[in-house]
Amino acid sequence: MSTGKIILSAIAASLLIVQSVNAVEPFENIAHDMLKDSIAMRTVSGPGNETPEFAAYLADKFKKAGFPDQDIMIIPYEDTAAMIVRYRGDNSSDKKPFVLSSHLDVVEALPEDWEKNPFELIEQNGMLYGRGVLDTKLNVVTLTATFLRLKSEGFIPSRDIILVFSGDEETAMASTRLVTQKYRDQIDAEFAIIADGGGGNLDENGKAFSYSIDSAEKTYADYEVTARNPGGHSSLPRKDNAIYDLARAIVKLSEFEFPVMQSPLTKAYFEKTAKLESNPEISKAMAAFAKNKNDMDAVKVLRSYPQYAGMTGTTCVATLLKGGHAQNALPQSAMMSINCRIFPGVGSDATMAQLKKVLDNDNLEWHLAAPVDESDESPLNEEVFSAVERVVHDEFPGIPIIPTMAMGASDGMYFRIAGIPSYALTADFIKPSDVFAHGLNERNPSANLGRAMRLWYKLINEWAG
Ligand SMILES: [Zn+2]
Repeated sequence: MSTGKIILSAIAASLLIVQSVNAVEPFENIAHDMLKDSIAMRTVSGPGNETPEFAAYLADKFKKAGFPDQDIMIIPYEDTAAMIVRYRGDNSSDKKPFVLSSHLDVVEALPEDWEKNPFELIEQNGMLYGRGVLDTKLNVVTLTATFLRLKSEGFIPSRDIILVFSGDEETAMASTRLVTQKYRDQIDAEFAIIADGGGGNLDENGKAFSYSIDSAEKTYADYEVTARNPGGHSSLPRKDNAIYDLARAIVKLSEFEFPVMQSPLTKAYFEKTAKLESNPEISKAMAAFAKNKNDMDAVKVLRSYPQYAGMTGTTCVATLLKGGHAQNALPQSAMMSINCRIFPGVGSDATMAQLKKVLDNDNLEWHLAAPVDESDESPLNEEVFSAVERVVHDEFPGIPIIPTMAMGASDGMYFRIAGIPSYALTADFIKPSDVFAHGLNERNPSANLGRAMRLWYKLINEWAG
């Protein structure tokens, strides 16, 4: 009997613990239902794109929650749609509004390649599965549900809060460009939070060890460099040859390193990451580089690791090669593609000028493969960073909040170009081995749903309470 009693009370105790860990946040169930509905919508660019339906679905939720029609704007664009929702404040804080942004679209997913149906929300062993659970429908629905919750509580923000959902972040980003250019007055804000990047980092044991805020991104540019030659019959060889000219240029490119650069962001990044890095060689180099960007021993170490090389300056690499037109002809042309990730503030023109100097052949033709969008680094905004730190520390006390520079592009770039500093962060705490965004069997720990409801609620209260 007594043994039984002990077991019973042990069960009761463990039930209590389970209950407190799994406590459902207000409106979390609503967010969960919306996540389920949204995963079932194929918001993929191309025929059958259901992004406009998703926007209409969300607009309906806002309307039913009491947001006035004029504050809910759907902006159709080709096969997709963006939306802007304004939560009007009483302006008691005298501050400009802030933007919370994410994207409605997802990357294509082929059901035959997946283990599970990508367009169905499936929960298994503490994980949510489905296309977009990580990138980034969980953010869209938790931001929406937080607006609904605040409205139901009668909350009146001290400044306007503007939700911006873009419709083609994963492809052309044209809807973001449209919103940030043509609807610039509708999104005028002090800063924009991009819920699509940054976030919490778990180690392989599931322990949170840091939190990232993407505050800049490198500029992406492709240059096509072509050597031309009159060519001729291969039985009549000459010293001048398009392939040889290009080959000499390639060797020069391979030997070139761009100047070392450091910004307030990368300095802070290396200072903080040095303390987390377990490899003593890298950790020492990070700390030394943060102190002195001209410490070339430190630079050499950092540049020998691909994941850190790009944080020390611009990087360019040859990625494609084409040349000649027949086995028995002197080549009339030879072309390489150079892909660059340009340090914020440098500019794609200056980068091309530098490369021309390095390759040192006036006869090479240069061509920018596609127009380049470039944005400067956003300043490390104290209001943003200190609020995020307080809110994240409620979840995981003491973990460092690290400003980071993304190597790829996000909607944040277009807000920066429009003069609105932007910061990418999410409530997603995940380990690298679980990140399958854009890939197969995309997943996100279930705990991030409730966490997102807490995080957005608290952040909005920090910035507009
Ligand atoms: Zn995304």
